[in-house]
Amino acid sequence: MDCCDRFARRLLIAAIVLVSGCATNSITGRSQLMLVSEDAAVKGSISAYSNMIGQFSKKDQVETGTPRVARVREITNRLVAEAVRFRPDSANWHWEVQVINDPKVVNAFCMAGGKMGIFTGFWEKAKATDDEIANVMGHEIGHALASHTREKMSVAMSVSVGATLLAVALTARNSNDSSAFPVAQNTTALAAALAITLPNSRDAETEADQIGIELAARAGFDPRAAVTLWEKMAKAGDTPIEFFSTHPAPENRAQRLQALVLQVDPLYQRAKDNKTAGPIPDFLGQPSNEHVVGTTTRGEYTARVAAEPEVMTFMAAEFDRFRKGEVVLTCGYECVLGYGFQRSNWKTLHSKSQWRELAIAVMKTGYLNDLSYFLLGEAATGLGFRDVAKIYYTRALEARKADKSCDGVFNTCEEFDIAQRINVALGAPGFAAELDKKINKNN
Ligand SMILES: [Zn+2]
Repeated sequence: MDCCDRFARRLLIAAIVLVSGCATNSITGRSQLMLVSEDAAVKGSISAYSNMIGQFSKKDQVETGTPRVARVREITNRLVAEAVRFRPDSANWHWEVQVINDPKVVNAFCMAGGKMGIFTGFWEKAKATDDEIANVMGHEIGHALASHTREKMSVAMSVSVGATLLAVALTARNSNDSSAFPVAQNTTALAAALAITLPNSRDAETEADQIGIELAARAGFDPRAAVTLWEKMAKAGDTPIEFFSTHPAPENRAQRLQALVLQVDPLYQRAKDNKTAGPIPDFLGQPSNEHVVGTTTRGEYTARVAAEPEVMTFMAAEFDRFRKGEVVLTCGYECVLGYGFQRSNWKTLHSKSQWRELAIAVMKTGYLNDLSYFLLGEAATGLGFRDVAKIYYTRALEARKADKSCDGVFNTCEEFDIAQRINVALGAPGFAAELDKKINKNN
């Protein structure tokens, strides 16, 4: 092989990694390196977490049955109840929080899939109030919602996967031992364990600050506590605070937080005055949709908040346009390639009910046809925006009439029976046919 071949091949590999390895975050709109799937990140985190808690438990450091534990559980449950507004899929995470007894350590974390921990140094050393604890945990949950664990795992994997695979290959060659393979299978757990020790980027910190303060305010905790908390930690004195090694302060954190306080204060005032906004299900532990009289299931609760006509203060501008029914697709032939490349990915997102991700992916491609609009309609339906869904479904039918359809010589509708599914989705048999007539009349 000559050098040009080799160069071309390297270029191709680099292109594949770039194309498949980056994803736009549906909350923040930022492009992130995502070599690890959501599923793998969650499973790896669960495994790393149980390992870690097991070790603390052996040393008798997992606090149980104290009023402090009860309070942390109550606070985090209220935060999670607000987190499902950002990510409805997180309602089914196996959320868990443990208080780890180490009075010298001021640190907290939330891994992918909602596995949380807080060290008792927050009370013993930082003298944190409930409002401050809520702001810390809100910040940590913000990291998990914005897939920062997954992003850091991807970095860890991209560095360590080569080394691990090499180790496995050598062991297998030397001993012919098939037990070498669990090493590879556990790579995600190792990456998850490594990820919480890696520092977040300053961008990620800014995102977690913004999501965290909003979660806390919506849950009825004073957003001003975010400011006092960071001040307290910054002034902690001679001993370094562990928290800052993984959470580097973004520039002008204090000023930014002050500005955010003004933004989310109305949410806090409303939450404080209206404490009886309805029952919150228990989000900690195994997800259950079993109905118990007098309580709300996670599913019922999530559907209820999704239907509330409310705009999050922190939302990718693109998603906000989608949410308001303002997305108009105009791209033609120049987007065909991207469309061809993305379609099966859309189908996967649809089958996994990843509605935000689906909406963002379709908008990014921008290709004008019925399938694109249909999927925006499906995403809106999935998120509970019924009126907005109607807008996109209607545009899907209009696109079909204008010959911008995935039906054709090469059927590329990913096996969706679009017209039929719109009928079902709108719960009005004959709606598509009526609309067809109306469009025909107008033409
Ligand atoms: Zn952070």
